[in-house]
Amino acid sequence: MEILNYINGEWIKPNVKEYFDVINPATGEVIAKTPLGTKADVDAAAKAASEAFVSWRRVPVNDRVQYLFKLRNLMRDAERGDEIAKLITNECGKTFEEAKAEMVRAYENIEVASGMPHMSKGEFVEDIAPGIDEIMIRQPVGVCATIAPFNFPGMIPFWYLPYALAAGNTYIIKPSEKVPMTMQFIFKLIEQVGFPKGVVNLVNGAKDTVDGILEHPAIRAITFVGSTNVAKYIYATAASHGKRVQAQGGAKNPVIILPDADMEMATKIIADSAFGCAGQRCLAVSLAVTVGESRNMFNELICDAASSRTVGYGLDAGVQMGPVINLAAQQRVEQLIALCAKEGASVPVDGRGTVVKGYERGSFVRPTILSEVKPGSEIARVEIFGPVLSLMHVNSIDEAIQLVNSGQYGNQASLFTTSGNAARRFRYEADAGNIGINIGVAAPMAFFPFSGWKESFFGDMHGQGMDAVEFFTQKKVVVERWPKEWTRKF
Ligand code: NAD
Repeated sequence: MEILNYINGEWIKPNVKEYFDVINPATGEVIAKTPLGTKADVDAAAKAASEAFVSWRRVPVNDRVQYLFKLRNLMRDAERGDEIAKLITNECGKTFEEAKAEMVRAYENIEVASGMPHMSKGEFVEDIAPGIDEIMIRQPVGVCATIAPFNFPGMIPFWYLPYALAAGNTYIIKPSEKVPMTMQFIFKLIEQVGFPKGVVNLVNGAKDTVDGILEHPAIRAITFVGSTNVAKYIYATAASHGKRVQAQGGAKNPVIILPDADMEMATKIIADSAFGCAGQRCLAVSLAVTVGESRNMFNELICDAASSRTVGYGLDAGVQMGPVINLAAQQRVEQLIALCAKEGASVPVDGRGTVVKGYERGSFVRPTILSEVKPGSEIARVEIFGPVLSLMHVNSIDEAIQLVNSGQYGNQASLFTTSGNAARRFRYEADAGNIGINIGVAAPMAFFPFSGWKESFFGDMHGQGMDAVEFFTQKKVVVERWPKEWTRKF
């Protein structure tokens, strides 16, 4: 597949010197080449989007959402849906079923954003003083842009794109250079929808393209999803250029297992969370804290669950877990496992050195369990972003909550218990933006904000739901006086 930009309603081959190899992480084959675009590409997209904004914001909101309905139907069509999922598996590594599940959340966000006629209503108060009324109107912000990560090539742009467009903004998306194919395909559907020229634009590239977006004077709002260090850079740089910005960062998600938990259910759900998508989900559980007597049973069951998972190419039948994104990620994960062993932990299930028959060039790491991980150790702190679950043990729920809250990230925290009171306390006290109670991946539905805290999020308004409406609109307040003396007689 040739990777092109889509600017002002046209497919454009960027004039670049460098390309980034897109590799199928299961086969090791180069399947596309991402053009490493420049600031000039961003400038062309921003100009097109600025010009399109003038008339797009005047399109009535109920007409704007008709384009989104059409896009949703095109994407959800069974054949195209499967084609999108296959692209995701091939460029990102997750299984076909995981890829299809990813797209469901994309459709849901389009559906929620289609409620924009209702969600963008303003406020009105009569007689704030005699004969004076006050109105709050929501207006679009202008040109908005999203910088996306590799791990959900189809879903993450849809945390933003439908809301931005429905609210009357024009839009630019820059996918991760590691996974440009999914958006390439979706933009073919966007083309079929027939949005006016310049309303939705696609630019490909890496750091230079991102810097072009951060600095461009016509781009008014930026959303970012990716690792924490880059999120901090995006947040600071975009803000220094006077832009509205939200930046979602990395994670290290803990789960507490109380002795009264339904152990079989807990293990199954925690294994799915830790090893699903090869642990490359920002809501993947990566630290399991057993309390009191839960240790023996949980540790035994989770080791069984880890060693019995079928690993392979995500399009092959029966495969439960695919590879990590590339060989560099495989090496990094393996080095972190080695470091952990050096720090004194044990490795009862070791996924290093995995070779899958028929896919010898793939970047596979089998599910791995690290036990007796020490609080404060490197492995307990850093985001591994691979299928690795660290086990820790404490004697009380107080200690467990303290441990959960001592981490630098706050994307998600989960608890497994059959006690309502313990669950209520955890919900109240855990320092994380997404809480799971007997849930392993507490991914908010499209009508709730995707709420990260601490080093997992920089900004105030989150993605999805009403937060997205807030983010993609600016409020205008009008105070009006119409004196009685001006009353005409009719
Ligand atoms: P990444 O930070 O490497 O890249 C994300 C985007 O930033 C890409 O588009 C990339 O081109 C760009 N980029 C990378 N380095 C840059 C730099 N130095 N300057 C400017 N732009 C740069 O992240 P990734 O590896 O693609 O994705 C995995 C990370 O994303 C993990 O840390 C994961 O936790 C996080 N993530 C978070 C959420 C969330 O909701 N909080 C969701 C998904 C992924």
